[in-house]
Amino acid sequence: GQRVVIVGAGMAGVQTAVALREQGWTGEIVLLGAEPHQPYDRPPLSKAVLLGKAEGSTLDVDFAGLGIGLRLGVEVTGLRPDKRLVETATGQLPYDVLVIATGAEPIPLPGSEGEPGVHLLRTLDDAERLRPVLARQREIAVVGAGWIGAEFATAAREAGCAVTVVEAADRPLAGALPAEVAAPMAAWYEDYGARLVTGARVASADESGLLLGDGTRLRAGAVVVGIGARPATGWLAGSGVELAEDRSVAADDRLRTSAPDVYAVGDCASFPSARYGTRLLVHHWDNALQGPRTVAANVVGSRTAAHFPGVVYDPVPYFWSEQFGRFVQYAGHHSEADELVWRGDPAGAAWSVCWLREGALVALLAVGRPRDLAQGRKLIERGARLDRTRAEDPSVPLKSA
Ligand code: FAD
Repeated sequence: GQRVVIVGAGMAGVQTAVALREQGWTGEIVLLGAEPHQPYDRPPLSKAVLLGKAEGSTLDVDFAGLGIGLRLGVEVTGLRPDKRLVETATGQLPYDVLVIATGAEPIPLPGSEGEPGVHLLRTLDDAERLRPVLARQREIAVVGAGWIGAEFATAAREAGCAVTVVEAADRPLAGALPAEVAAPMAAWYEDYGARLVTGARVASADESGLLLGDGTRLRAGAVVVGIGARPATGWLAGSGVELAEDRSVAADDRLRTSAPDVYAVGDCASFPSARYGTRLLVHHWDNALQGPRTVAANVVGSRTAAHFPGVVYDPVPYFWSEQFGRFVQYAGHHSEADELVWRGDPAGAAWSVCWLREGALVALLAVGRPRDLAQGRKLIERGARLDRTRAEDPSVPLKSA
């Protein structure tokens, strides 16, 4: 029989294993995960799990029943595509098909790695270390006003902590959203009783707090660093598998890598999008759910059909964030050149923003307007032109022109 080996037992790895069975793969499936825990979902880690409202977020999958050989606490250290082997501390494992799903790792603040009192937030272990920190209601400093920083600050406020968020850019979410759209979000911090300090570089962090680039000391009982994540692909060094400049596995439009019968999916992989005319690296949950279905279809198809053309992966990316009592959703992909159309007052509780390219809707951000998101996502998928005048009126549904 044939064996698929999946490296990484996060959302993308687990969904690949499940999708393979759903799509009729009858061969062996081995799922290797470095973490000791039963596979779990990450989004609750910065929300319910952090506040102790949920014990954990274990994925509800019957691995034994599906015939998935789950091996936990196994770190894969190398890949030999010429010999079709992966290497682990305890030996080598041969594969017929390999799926790389090692996700991403948080970027530490340079110099603060391993400092006591300085935390990252990526894993269940991280969340469990942070839970008692919040419960003690100490002053907390957060480095980075991105998605993770905002969600963590929200949880810390809800736990009753004093929170200061320090951001190097002049606004929150500077890497994700244009100034005009992110500007109203700065007020959310203050409304929620958190302090946001922008335009401030952090020089160092330790258990006493932060030292800023201008010499200012910011005392805190704990520091949480949320300055981004990068693909966990260090173990592929020397394997010959092609990486992109951002260190993601450079997959093709069918999520195949440069090595034969090796696929890549989830936070570790980028792929060329014909829809957006650029290579995308998506670090969001929905991509780790949808991508695996394409990988499974391509694995099953190429192994069972004689001339299988392959299934192309070209999704409309989607994600959500829960911050400062608001539900924020985004679908699509925009660039600086796209035209912005506002839908509602950004000072209010609910509003949306549309991005148009030559009249077609390419992306949408919805704050407390899930219906806009649902309608907009469909229009983006169809590449529909937007009726602009209607779009500016939040009282009528989004519609194509
Ligand atoms: P991961 O979840 O990173 O899983 C990869 C797994 O591979 C890990 O368990 C890792 O230990 C393992 N691994 C790595 N290297 C090796 C190796 N060499 N050998 C063996 N195993 C290895 N997205 C949203 O859209 N909305 C949200 O609200 C949201 N909230 C989030 C909150 C937090 C705190 C975090 C961290 C992420 C959040 N995300 C959210 C992003 C989302 O969780 C990720 O996009 C998703 O987890 C990606 O899944 P993945 O399987 O590709 O990678």
